[in-house]
Amino acid sequence: MEKIEICLASNNAHKIVELQKMLGDTFLIITMKDIGCEDDIEEYGTTFEENSRIKADYIHNLYGVNVIADDSGLEVEALDNRPGVYSARYAGEPTNHQANIEKLLLELDGIENREARFRTVITLILDDKHYAFEGHVSGKITKELRGDEGFGYDPVFVPDGFEKTFAEMPADLKNQMSHRANAINRLLEHLKTKK
Ligand code: IMP
Repeated sequence: MEKIEICLASNNAHKIVELQKMLGDTFLIITMKDIGCEDDIEEYGTTFEENSRIKADYIHNLYGVNVIADDSGLEVEALDNRPGVYSARYAGEPTNHQANIEKLLLELDGIENREARFRTVITLILDDKHYAFEGHVSGKITKELRGDEGFGYDPVFVPDGFEKTFAEMPADLKNQMSHRANAINRLLEHLKTKK
């Protein structure tokens, strides 16, 4: 069967590889560069749902292609779900993961409730129809940084049922249980029901 081309609304090389691995049987993931789009899409929404839809619509409206877009972040219970949609720029712009983590740990200093979750919403526009898939992974924020793998808040996030942070785990293990994996699995389930 011929694969369906789908453009990923992201320039993150890591995500492109990860998605191609997970969706490779059904889709051929193409990049924004492949369709000639070098724009930095402004994420002006206030929820993951809005931001992922803004990115997907931007590409779809301009280029008319199938699109997949995601928006994710960390929600910390004791901080009223901050940093949330502002996860990438929590300590200001440009994105500085180290500074973001320092700010987070400072805000949680002396707070016993370390419950948190990574959340993502994926928007799929396929044959001009919109679909949204949510995924999350729950865990706890550590008091210090541990590990060098991954990116973002991985060195301070321990998923429930584990002792290691995401940054101490092999990428494959994280990718099996991550918020993105959960959302993509829902997307794959959805595609199966359409066949
Ligand atoms: P994005 O919407 O997937 O680009 O994620 C926005 C921000 O959320 C990132 O810059 C990270 O700070 C944080 N984030 C999202 N996913 C992860 C993850 O898997 N590990 C660590 N941080 C993440």
